[in-house]
Amino acid sequence: VNIFEQTNSLQAHLNALKQNGKTVGFVPTMGALHDGHCSLIREAKEVCDVVVCSIFVNPTQFNETSDFSNYPRTIDADIDILERENCDILFHPSHKEVYPKNIAPTDFDFGKLELVMEGEHRPGHFKGVAMVVKRLFEMVQPDQAFFGLKDYQQFLIIRELTNQLSLSIKITGCPIVRENSGLAMSSRNQHLSEQQKEGATVLHRMLHDLKQNTEKESVALEKQKITAAVTQAGLEIEYIEIADANSLQPISDWDSTRPTNAFIAAFTGPVRLIDNMIIFA
Ligand code: AMP
Repeated sequence: VNIFEQTNSLQAHLNALKQNGKTVGFVPTMGALHDGHCSLIREAKEVCDVVVCSIFVNPTQFNETSDFSNYPRTIDADIDILERENCDILFHPSHKEVYPKNIAPTDFDFGKLELVMEGEHRPGHFKGVAMVVKRLFEMVQPDQAFFGLKDYQQFLIIRELTNQLSLSIKITGCPIVRENSGLAMSSRNQHLSEQQKEGATVLHRMLHDLKQNTEKESVALEKQKITAAVTQAGLEIEYIEIADANSLQPISDWDSTRPTNAFIAAFTGPVRLIDNMIIFA
C-alpha cells in the first residue's frame, strides 16, 4: 500500500492515474480497521481501478472529548490489513492538512434528516461528519465513495451533501458486516469485555425478531418489547425507532409497500452502539 500524508503528493499521484483513464474509489474511515471496513475496500476494488482508504480520526464529529481521546488508534495493524486487502493507497493526513487555518467553515443544513435519531442525540455530529467528508472529497476527488449502511443515517446525509454541493461522486452504501454472534462490527467494540459483547448481541437479535413480527404486533408494542429486552440484557437504550428508509421520519403503522428500517442506539457501560435493519425493502 502506497502511503500519503500530504494532499499535494496524493493528488499528483492520482492525477497521473486518472490521465490514464483509471477510476478512483474512496473509502473514508477513522481507522481501527475491521472486516466492516474491509468489505467496503473489497467492493471498491470490484468496481474501481484504484482504491484510496483514508484514516483520520475527525475531532469535529465527536460529542465527547473522552470518546475522541479514547478512540482506538492502531495504525500499524491498519497498514497490515490494507496490505492484506491489496488496497492501493492509504491517505493518512494530519489535522493541519484536513483543517488548514485558511478554510472557511461551511454551514450545512440537512433539514429533517439531521433532526432525528443520531442527529437528535448527538448534536453537531452530522455537521462534523459533513465537514470532514466535504474536505476529504476535495482532497481525494474520487469518482465513487463507499459507506457502510451500519451508519445508515450518515449514508443518507452524505448522499444529500453530495447533491447539495453538486459533486459528481457516486455514493454507494454497503451492507452491515456482523460478528458470528450477530453483533455489528465497530471499532468501538474493542472497548467491550467478552461479557458486554455477549450482552450486546441483544440489539441484533431484537431487530431480527421485529422483522419477523410485523404481522403480529403494533409498531408501539414492538418498540416497548425491544426496550424491555435490551434493558433486561443490561444495556441502556437511547432510542428505538422505526422509520421511512428515505426520509427517516418515524412511522406508527406498518406499511409493507413503503421502504422501512428499524434503528437502535444503546449504551453498554460507556460504549455507545448503534445498529439497524431493513424491515421492508
Ligand atoms: P468508521 O471508521 O467507524 O468511521 O467507519 C468507516 C466506514 O466503515 C463507514 O462508512 C462505516 O459505515 C463503515 N462501517 C463501519 N462498521 C461497519 C460494519 N460493521 N459493516 C459495514 N460497514 C461498516
